Amino acid sequence: MSDPIVEVRQLTKAYGKFQALHEVNFEVHRGDVFGFLGPNGAGKSTTIRILLSLISADSGTLSLFGMPLATHRREILQKIGCIVEKPDFYKYLSARRNLEIFGRVSGADTSKRNIDAMLAFVGLEGRANDKLGGFSHGMRQRLGLAQALLHQPELIVLDEPTTGLDPQGIIDIRELILQLSREQGKTIILSSHLLSEIELIANRMVIINKGRSLAEGSVKELLNAEELVVTFELNDGAAAVALLQQRPEVVLREQHDNRLTLQINREEVPELNQWLQSQGLRVYAIESKRKLEDYFLKLVNN
Ligand code: ADP
Ligand code: MG
Repeated sequence: MSDPIVEVRQLTKAYGKFQALHEVNFEVHRGDVFGFLGPNGAGKSTTIRILLSLISADSGTLSLFGMPLATHRREILQKIGCIVEKPDFYKYLSARRNLEIFGRVSGADTSKRNIDAMLAFVGLEGRANDKLGGFSHGMRQRLGLAQALLHQPELIVLDEPTTGLDPQGIIDIRELILQLSREQGKTIILSSHLLSEIELIANRMVIINKGRSLAEGSVKELLNAEELVVTFELNDGAAAVALLQQRPEVVLREQHDNRLTLQINREEVPELNQWLQSQGLRVYAIESKRKLEDYFLKLVNN
């Protein structure tokens, strides 16, 4: 658990005059499914490209498997498998042949046994000899995963692997990630702009926005904090605001006419509801969101 496999400290990167990463910090522990969560343009792919040595950082330190990337690039990259963009396979060749070719380039074991095993793992054993031209996006993405796994990496980096997939394709990839983690003990970094996706598979995460890491920790702890953002819809917003002066523990975040958005502990919601009614107000609706979810939705909508 406390064995960091990736440590990223104060990472910065500019593209010309545009500062894409200001200060990105996070660490991934062995065995994590680590969620790298941020809205589009947050700097996820930039960070991942730096991790994979595809581009270089301007400053900051990066170490993987306890070694600085700057000095141990080759050794580190051998331990990583990745899908960073849509895998670029040969359409007119079979799934098997594609894996042989790409595997050879990366120095992986391209024996029939290994390739068959990887194809079976991603559920493509029946399609080994079919040309890629007829593959769906989901099948290609699974083949991409097979390719990323051929050299038995310890760490697997997936940059938005479910983007553009249909619902079944998304479930397939999710299941494969969970299997890699649970059954094979692999460490996985998964980037996404969807909180719901990270919540379903990751155990730890960092939230990144505009090139800065904003919150890092256990997904459960970050998401299931007792504090909620609750919107009450009632018959008289102004009267409710006046009454809430008597309740300093309730933080009023917003008021739109008769809709009041409050920050409050989960346990206090039913009691506050009763109290408002006992003061003569009528409550029509109560909607609650977890504070982090609310916060993240605001980031994404900005
Ligand atoms: P994400 O993957 O989180 O969507 P990126 O890392 O791709 O974000 O991009 C972060 C920011 O950097 C975006 O504003 C993007 O437009 C910009 N950016 C990315 N790549 C380049 C590039 N090669 N040249 C200039 N700007 C870029
Ligand atoms: Mg990206």
